[in-house]
Amino acid sequence: MALYVEKYGGTSVGSVERINAVADQIVRTKAAGHGLVVVVSAMSGETNRLLELAGEFAGQTATRELDVLLSTGEQVTIALLSMALIKRGCKARSYTGSQVHILTDNIHGKARILEIDDARVRNDLAENRVVVVAGFQGVDVDGNITTLGRGGSDTTAVALAAALQADECRIYTDVDGVYTSDPRIVPAAQRLEQITVEEMLEMASLGAKVLQIRAVEFAGKYHVPLRVLSSFEEGTGTLISFEERNMEEALISGIAFNRDEAKVTLVGVPDQPGVAFRVLGPIADAQINVDMIIQNVAEDGTTDLTFTVHRNEYEPAMKLLEQAKMELGAREITGDDNIAKISVVGVGMRSHSGVASTMFKTLAEEGINIQMISTSEIKISVVVDDRYLELAVRALHKAFGLDSEVAPAGTD
Ligand code: ASP
Ligand code: MG
Repeated sequence: MALYVEKYGGTSVGSVERINAVADQIVRTKAAGHGLVVVVSAMSGETNRLLELAGEFAGQTATRELDVLLSTGEQVTIALLSMALIKRGCKARSYTGSQVHILTDNIHGKARILEIDDARVRNDLAENRVVVVAGFQGVDVDGNITTLGRGGSDTTAVALAAALQADECRIYTDVDGVYTSDPRIVPAAQRLEQITVEEMLEMASLGAKVLQIRAVEFAGKYHVPLRVLSSFEEGTGTLISFEERNMEEALISGIAFNRDEAKVTLVGVPDQPGVAFRVLGPIADAQINVDMIIQNVAEDGTTDLTFTVHRNEYEPAMKLLEQAKMELGAREITGDDNIAKISVVGVGMRSHSGVASTMFKTLAEEGINIQMISTSEIKISVVVDDRYLELAVRALHKAFGLDSEVAPAGTD
């Protein structure tokens, strides 16, 4: 007998039919003799609806009252799912985050879980009950309701799995796993059987939004076996693992990309100590996150400094550069918000060389100019013109052997 923490996302519990389908599935797992803690999200669209309502009262800023409001979405689904289970003769009990003591800090709207007192849950499990817990919410030391940020139910599930030392945390969603790339851009993308936590973090921070990033970090930190799978169809999903895959397997796990960045360049700054600090210090002070940074080799005592920021912060970053330009006597400022960042991600590149050259060769063959390059231990990223995003991603997906093999017609 195993203990599973299962999380069902908004679309999985988005209607009466869906809640009934989830209840049927839970009853089957229970019948196989397993212990179950179930975490649910609000019905799809509900959190957005509540946010809009709050907007009518200028309550959209993350405050104490907004968290009181948003936490109701999950309270509805825990109750309904528990009713559906009880109707099926399955013992079940619903709990809000505060009832099972999911203690968080007091940062409303993006609270972090500090501690879970699992006594109550363990008691119910011992009584053979299915424990249904509201995702996305907790309580601070003063008893105020908090929420964990959008997508936070994933984190609730992983934290509960860690506290209970569950055999597996299963995140049920509307896709059947993690893919080698976005199937909307790359039709030949395939589901991965496994991906390491590190790779998943890279993929997630690059825009593959299957799991809340914080949940993946949590799983990595506490070694929670985590699986993403579909609640709409049978399948084994994708296991987020801790082990390195064996050597024969693919070097690269996936091609990630995003269109959320913009590039700014300060041209002709004096090549002196302290310049990077004087340019990037004010950017950091303005809470603007910088991603890639490049400084050219100096010529005639001056150099160019280029970096990328989120597209929403393009204008404020350009303004701040204007000031740096005057202070430092730089020649000019240029910027471009029609860029895309593409990354190949894989733990295999730790032990193999040649990934970068395959990447550059592939882009060269497609005639795509690389504007910036950055590397980490398990990732190589390039910035290219936005227009070439799809072409580049598809070409790289193929070059790294990630395309699914389409069965030849006429055979079976
Ligand atoms: N209901 C919350 C949201 O929509 C939390 C979650 O679904 O994980 O973000
Ligand atoms: Mg979600």
